Amino acid sequence: MSIETVPNELRNLRACMICGLIKTFTQFEVDGCDNCEDFLSLKDNKDMVYDCTSANFDDMIGLMSPDDSWVARWQRISKFQKGIYAVSVSGTLPRHVQRMLSERGVPYRSLDVSEKPASTCSVISRTMSNRVNSTKRFLLISIPVDLLPDEFMPTMWMD
Ligand SMILES: [Zn+2]
Repeated sequence: MSIETVPNELRNLRACMICGLIKTFTQFEVDGCDNCEDFLSLKDNKDMVYDCTSANFDDMIGLMSPDDSWVARWQRISKFQKGIYAVSVSGTLPRHVQRMLSERGVPYRSLDVSEKPASTCSVISRTMSNRVNSTKRFLLISIPVDLLPDEFMPTMWMD
């Protein structure tokens, strides 16, 4: 995994509102978003980093092999860079950024699930949380589907 795309510390973490990539504020400011920089231009632009990333996100996925991972396909991040991704990100992109995205033909799907009915991912999230008896956060490591334990399969398809 490229070191630039993973958080280099656990404080001041933020997630991109478009792709969900999690990095520190400084990493976003210095390198931009590794997936969205072409159209977002976060580099050296604190205001855009504040506007387009959120400190409020839930559940994380460690994306190591985007091409092989069912988690990546299911989360629609299989075309993204390796890194740590949030399953849901609270907040909405400012209007002017949404307008700019639609002008450039970039599809935007909000990652904020707070007002939507429970999705597959939140069901799995809760199931996983119960299973490991932990609090809300967990780390889903994306591994090739044939390496998954059998008992995991039903959970995966629950909707
Ligand atoms: Zn992004």
